[in-house]
Amino acid sequence: MEKVVIIRYAEIHLKGKNRGFFEHVFAMNLERSLKGLRHELHRTSGRWLVEKFDEDRAEEIAERVSSVFGVHSYSVGYLIGSSMDEIFSAAKLVAPHEGTFKVETHRAYKKYPLTSMEISAEIGGRLLETFPALQVDVHAPRSAVYIDVRENSTALVFGSFEEGAGGMPVGTSGKGLLMISGGIDSPVAGYMMAKRGMTVELLHFHSYPYTNEGAKEKVVSLAKILSKYTLVGKLTTVKVTKIQEEIHAKCAAELNVTLLRRFMFRIAERYARQCGAQCLITGESLGQVASQTIEGMTSSNAVVTLPVLRPLVGFDKDEIILRSRKIGAYETSILPFEDCCTVFLPEHPAIRPKLSFIEEEEAKLDVAALVEEALATAEVITF
Ligand code: ATP
Ligand code: MG
Repeated sequence: MEKVVIIRYAEIHLKGKNRGFFEHVFAMNLERSLKGLRHELHRTSGRWLVEKFDEDRAEEIAERVSSVFGVHSYSVGYLIGSSMDEIFSAAKLVAPHEGTFKVETHRAYKKYPLTSMEISAEIGGRLLETFPALQVDVHAPRSAVYIDVRENSTALVFGSFEEGAGGMPVGTSGKGLLMISGGIDSPVAGYMMAKRGMTVELLHFHSYPYTNEGAKEKVVSLAKILSKYTLVGKLTTVKVTKIQEEIHAKCAAELNVTLLRRFMFRIAERYARQCGAQCLITGESLGQVASQTIEGMTSSNAVVTLPVLRPLVGFDKDEIILRSRKIGAYETSILPFEDCCTVFLPEHPAIRPKLSFIEEEEAKLDVAALVEEALATAEVITF
């Protein structure tokens, strides 16, 4: 009797002509997530099966599969011959020992000597004999035993459906560049775009020596957590210290954040073009802080031509935190390290800065040279 992980996929069936491409990318992503663990991945009618792994790794395999986008649900179960005795021996392993339950059979092999109902009744009966504390309840059972009789004289038996990550396979919806800080929001924003199938590259700005190694390590940790979903093991950092110092020295203090933002966007766009990203992604949410007003967003958008995706724009902080916890980033995000935006933070940042005032202040700087200089500090960290 072989332990297997059964994977059902989510929206792929929607994609008509592209279906082959979607399935190919999906299978590649599953393989990447299982790297380093002995296994075989096989496609069967409408599902994928992970087979031939070390049985004590079943949980780990299921855990890894659970974060791959495109996985609708998954189950740990058994792949066995389709005789009733074999089905029963697997059913005994996945069945509860007490409480209410039902047996649900799906029969792809229509020539099997028993109907689905007959198989369920027979296996249910044998389980009741084996575990006297069990009770059948077909309407609202506490547990279930699922049997899939397949075409090739084999059957799958499992005890539950676990919810997968949903979404679409990463790599089927283009590429974006996430501006990732050490905060709560941007990792969630990256997660959400990856969930829609986008390949997400990461760019982080630091202000060394005002921000320290610890702050950088924190972002690397966040990038690693995110890579579980995005499957990209790479982070690029750019130093914006000089830019911040120049702004601080020459421009109106209340525009510090606004002006820095515009530099970040310009640098990000340049880097996006280098790495083939088709859009920028930020963790901004409307009204969350002074710079995240529609005026603030407009002022940042004005310096780039690539689209800027803000998947959290309509989310409350509570909702973002909930997602951050779900993806396992929250505990890292709240570690107390300084972000470059908090260095030189003005006491009263402009909330609705006028574009003409922004441009006037910005004209005091050699924008092109500062962008160039910053880009030259780009460092790629792979993990
Ligand atoms: P976050 O929780 O993502 O840090 P925040 O609420 O702190 O967001 P801001 O500091 O205003 O908001 O930043 C808004 C967005 O700008 C971030 O979500 C991120 O996309 C980008 N950003 C801010 N700081 C940096 C940085 N140091 N490096 C890269 N991107 C940044
Ligand atoms: Mg922040």
